[in-house]
Amino acid sequence: MLDLKDRNTAESICEPAVNFIRSIYGSGVIPLHRPIFGGNEKSYLTDCIDSNFVSSAGSKVDDFERQVASFTGAKNAVAVVNGTNAIQIALLLAGVGQQDEVLTQALTFVATCNAISYVGADPVFIDVDKDTLGMSPVFLSKFLESHAVRKGDGVFNKSSGKRIKACLPMHTFGSPCRIQDILDVCREWDIPLVEDAAESLGSFSDKRHTGTFGLLGAISFNGNKIITTGGGGMLLTDDDQLAKRAKHLTTTAKVPHRYEFTHDEIGFNYRLPSLNAALGCAQMEQLPRIIEIKSQIAAQYRSFFKTIGVEMVEPLTHCRTNNWLNAIVLKDNKERNDFLEYTNENNVITRPIWRLMSDLKMFRNCQKDNLENSRWLEERVVNIPSSVVSFA
Ligand SMILES: *Cc1c(COP(=O)(O)O)cnc(C)c1O
Repeated sequence: MLDLKDRNTAESICEPAVNFIRSIYGSGVIPLHRPIFGGNEKSYLTDCIDSNFVSSAGSKVDDFERQVASFTGAKNAVAVVNGTNAIQIALLLAGVGQQDEVLTQALTFVATCNAISYVGADPVFIDVDKDTLGMSPVFLSKFLESHAVRKGDGVFNKSSGKRIKACLPMHTFGSPCRIQDILDVCREWDIPLVEDAAESLGSFSDKRHTGTFGLLGAISFNGNKIITTGGGGMLLTDDDQLAKRAKHLTTTAKVPHRYEFTHDEIGFNYRLPSLNAALGCAQMEQLPRIIEIKSQIAAQYRSFFKTIGVEMVEPLTHCRTNNWLNAIVLKDNKERNDFLEYTNENNVITRPIWRLMSDLKMFRNCQKDNLENSRWLEERVVNIPSSVVSFA
């Protein structure tokens, strides 16, 4: 608990925040984010069961893919078992392999870096922008200027000698990073851009959906995301050939035939079951309403936190966020710790932003730039309850 010298933070920030959060979410334990099933979920699941199509056959996966493609404006959407595997396949299709390097951010969820490891590559950590919490195009460009060299068919890292094969920024908590500027840097260097859009379904930059700027993008439908299929992921790409390859690779690389079983490479069983897709179809129908309510909650938070002098993470003016998880930026690490302690003690679940990937033992030896902004944010950013409570 807090001692006397913390009275100021407790009285001026923690108590009012808890009271305000309770004014939105009521009494009891308030989770950080919980899913809402307010539509056709049960009916579509029943359809699956009644038709016996609970696994890979049936039309639900196709329906779900069409809905996501249409919503995001991506030419193709390919459903897979989860977001991590969607990133893994996206990297594979971008040509990333053993001994390659992928430029990413240290301020992210571990799945981003795990996916890089699954294809045998190493992450290289570029600092983020303080306002977006996403990869900084300026630091990206600076890193390439000082560490990269064009050689033959690729771009190589002068320090490691390894090929830099892709760039993988992330749209943190749904707030779009400076994706167009990042794309411009990637184009200048001929490095494929893959977007970790796991958290940003419903977020746009210049009216274009996140995850559709790069060669490929990946979305997650895990239970804590803005909508959920229980577990699930989706690859987005405008490239028809890549989409075909993605489908092929994630469905055991089976050569289409009425009855023969032939496989022409080592594929993956990453196909999304129909049951999950059925849930996804029902959730997609509600997405616009969910986004609308989330934007109202975010607006309420914004005006409240302004009155107590606490900063919130805000989208850039040309961007629209899905407001998946609201985030506040506290004064320093001590204030952050006091806030986390007080809110969780009072059953209002809050959580700090992730530990930097560059500090985890698996990635400790990976190359990184100075990560000053990442470190600054790591010490201060806290997520606050952000669920859609009801459709009332
Ligand atoms: C959730 C998430 C993932 C992984 O998605 P899963 O569906 O849980 O595998 C990847 N990256 C980020 C940034 C995420 O938040």
